Amino acid sequence: MYFRMAKRLLTETDKRLLWKATWTLGFKGLLSVHKHKRRLKRGEFFPPFLYMSVINSCNLRCQGCWVDVAAKQQRIEVDAANRTIDEAKKMGNAFFGILGGEPFMHKDLMKIFAAHPDAYFQVFTNGHFITDEVAAQLRELGNVTPLISVEGSEIISDERRGRAGVLNDTMKGLEAALRNKLMVGVCTSVCKSNIDDLVSERWIDRLIEMGVMYCWFHIYRPVGPESNPDLALNSEEQRRVRQFVVDIRATKPIIVIDAYHDDAGNALCPAATGFTHHVGPWGDLEPCPVIQLATESIHDKRSLKDTFNESAFLRDFRELTAQHTRGCVIMERPDLLIDLANRHGARDTTARGSVMKELEDISPRRSQFQPGDEIPERSLAYRWAKKYAFNDFGTYTQHFSEDRWKDPDANRTNDPETTDKTSLPVLK
Ligand code: SF4
Repeated sequence: MYFRMAKRLLTETDKRLLWKATWTLGFKGLLSVHKHKRRLKRGEFFPPFLYMSVINSCNLRCQGCWVDVAAKQQRIEVDAANRTIDEAKKMGNAFFGILGGEPFMHKDLMKIFAAHPDAYFQVFTNGHFITDEVAAQLRELGNVTPLISVEGSEIISDERRGRAGVLNDTMKGLEAALRNKLMVGVCTSVCKSNIDDLVSERWIDRLIEMGVMYCWFHIYRPVGPESNPDLALNSEEQRRVRQFVVDIRATKPIIVIDAYHDDAGNALCPAATGFTHHVGPWGDLEPCPVIQLATESIHDKRSLKDTFNESAFLRDFRELTAQHTRGCVIMERPDLLIDLANRHGARDTTARGSVMKELEDISPRRSQFQPGDEIPERSLAYRWAKKYAFNDFGTYTQHFSEDRWKDPDANRTNDPETTDKTSLPVLK
């Protein structure tokens, strides 16, 4: 399998792009984690991976989206974006996740990428704006990987994303990116309506056949102004996705990303561990993209280094969350976020201004934390990589206590959906 993966990387992508990714994302990315660990030992903090939503606008209206896509357009302008990236690079960071809205609607996006040839960007996109011309520009730049979201079959995609022809346009963007030999990923927010189609060997084989190098399975989180709890996966379905990810990593020549488990299969939250935080379209420094609360901004006078290091709100977020769960706080304990926001006087960072009400309305449910059902990595490469670079960095040992964890599904124990366990098929 490792040989087939290496062969794909060497034969299906532009060698220059591969080298750039290996150096900037691989080597410098590991170095940034190493620096992060050393900072933690000194009692300092700066997240090694930063996500930035550069624009709120989007051409789609996806179900469950938490971004104010229809509000007046708000962008992080080039100067502010460059300053933020420069400050992060000074701390040793080399990787930046770019989100929106739809990032390719930002008129100066390419200028931002071009200003940082020593950094690597992953762009979360619906793919609709990736024409051959855009893909050729990205190839020329060499430091960008598009992560294109596919949310299901044609009918399901159109329904989940708010208009007809969405999947078709996404596939056109994907094909243009592949034609231009970019390192391309496909991500899916897995929910009840797409789990059977996309969490399947058939879909992975198709991605490999097309030339996609990596995929990322998120779990759909029913948050935001129009959340749809009926789409959320129950514990058994989440276990199924986790087993699938572990199996594909060990058997198929495609890289699979997930952000919620360490090498032993223990759940973690990358915001609670401080691995990553998020910059919203107004410049607010938020715990993660779905928690739209902040007390600081990239536009503040202080340096980013001092802001992250001294933010009482973000530190309290990390500690409070880690004390109560290894899972997703917004899914399991939205009440903690309400308390946190009240205690720190955190502002609602949305245009709609209804975040506190949305948190009150969330009906808690289990997230990636499924105690007793941990599924360790089968693949040696992932085991090593996670042991070194993707774990809790001691967060939960320091803060978590089982006694404080409240099982959000405790009141649903009579619901067969949450209790039925089936034996999972393990791929050979
Ligand atoms: S709080 Fe939830 S959505 Fe945010 S990073 Fe943690 S697990 Fe992910």
